[in-house]
Amino acid sequence: MKIVDVKAMTLQMNSWRYPLVQIETDEGISGLGEGRDGSDKRLLLELKRFLVGEDPTNIEQLLQKIRRRGGRGATGRQGGGVSGVEIALWDIAGKAAGMPIYKLIGGKRRDKVRVYVDSGVGILPDGSRPPRYPADGWEQAYTVEAYAEKARRRKAMGFSIVKFDLGYHGMFLNVPGYALGQHTSERGFNAEVACVKAVKEVLGDGVALCLDLGSEDYLASDRHMTLPSAMHLCKALEPYNILWVEDALSTAHLDSWVRLTNSTTVPTLTGEDLYLRQDFLPFFERHAIDVAHPDIATAGGILEGKKIGDLAELFGISIAQHCAGSPVSLTANLHCAAAQPDNFLAMEYHAADMPAWQSLVKGLPTPLTTDGFMDVLDKPGLGITLDEEVVRKHLAAGETYFE
Ligand SMILES: [Mg+2]
Repeated sequence: MKIVDVKAMTLQMNSWRYPLVQIETDEGISGLGEGRDGSDKRLLLELKRFLVGEDPTNIEQLLQKIRRRGGRGATGRQGGGVSGVEIALWDIAGKAAGMPIYKLIGGKRRDKVRVYVDSGVGILPDGSRPPRYPADGWEQAYTVEAYAEKARRRKAMGFSIVKFDLGYHGMFLNVPGYALGQHTSERGFNAEVACVKAVKEVLGDGVALCLDLGSEDYLASDRHMTLPSAMHLCKALEPYNILWVEDALSTAHLDSWVRLTNSTTVPTLTGEDLYLRQDFLPFFERHAIDVAHPDIATAGGILEGKKIGDLAELFGISIAQHCAGSPVSLTANLHCAAAQPDNFLAMEYHAADMPAWQSLVKGLPTPLTTDGFMDVLDKPGLGITLDEEVVRKHLAAGETYFE
C-alpha cells in the first residue's frame, strides 16, 4: 500500500477552527486526522512531500523521516501538523488491519473512558460567547452567580469531573483593580476564590472540580500570574479539594513549577502545548507537576500520547488528555485513552455548549457520554466517518471539501 495524496480543509464552528487532513492510498483506504484546534491546514499540507509514495503503515519510520528532514513539529497550537498526520496514518493502519487503533498500540485497558467537561462561564446553550476583558460587559459575564449557574447546568449533565476557567477571562489580565502587573491583587484574589466557593457549593463532594488558569498564548508569560500569586491561590484553594489546577505558570519556568508543586496539596497540571515526550521528561524527573496534560494534536499523536502516559507512570504522575478539537480529535483521544496505563484520569470534552458539534461525524454514540463516560469504539481505525453534508455547512470561509 502506498500513499497517493494528502488533502486538508478547515472547519469552523462558533469561534473554533478545526484543520482536518485526509491521507489517501492506492488501495482505496483513506485515513482521517486533525491538527491542533485553531491552527492552520497548511501545517498538514506541507508534509505531503514527505508522505506520497510511502507505505502508510510504517508510522514511526515516516514520522522520523518528517522530523529529520525539517518537517514541522513544534509546541503550541501551531505545532500540530505532524500530530494530525500521525492520527490519519493510524486510521489507515487500523482499517488495513481490520482493528480499532487501541488494539494496535497495546490494547484496551478499559471498556469506557472517563471524560471531563470544559465549562466556559457565560457561554449559553446555543454556544454564543460572553464578552472578554476589555470588551464592555465582561465583568457582568463572570460574576459569582454566573459561575454558580454554569455549575448547575454542568451538574445536571451527569459528568463526574467539571473544569472551569479562572483568571484568563479577565481578572488576571492586568485588569485595573484585579491585577497589579502579573501579580494578582487582593480584589482579584478574593473574586477568584469566591467563584470557586460558589461552584463547589453547587457541585458538592460528588463531582470533582478542576480549574484552568491557562494563558491563551504559550510562553506568553505576561499572561500568567506570578509564582507567589499562584502559590497564594493554590494554598487558599486547598480546603475545596480541587482535582487539579491547570497552567498556573508558563512551561518556560520549570523551577517555578517545582516550587509551586512543592508548596501545595492541590495537584498541579500542565502540558497541552508541549511537543513529544522529551518535552515532558524534565517535568517528570523533577516532579514539577502532579498530572501531565498532553494534547495529542500537538504532542505528536495517538501513540506519542500513550508513550507520555507510560513515561508519567514511571514517575508516579497521573495523565489527563487535553482536547479542544472536532469529533475527529476526540475520537483519536478515545483510542489513546483506552490504552493508557492505570495513571490515566480523564480526557477532555470541550463542546458541551455546541449542539451541532457531534453531527460532524457518524459513528459516535448518542448521547456521547453516559454518566460521564464514553464507550470505547470497536470499528476498524478511528471507527468514524465525516458526515459530508453537515461538514459542508461548517467549512470555514473560502474552504472547499478536502481540496
Ligand atoms: Mg487549558
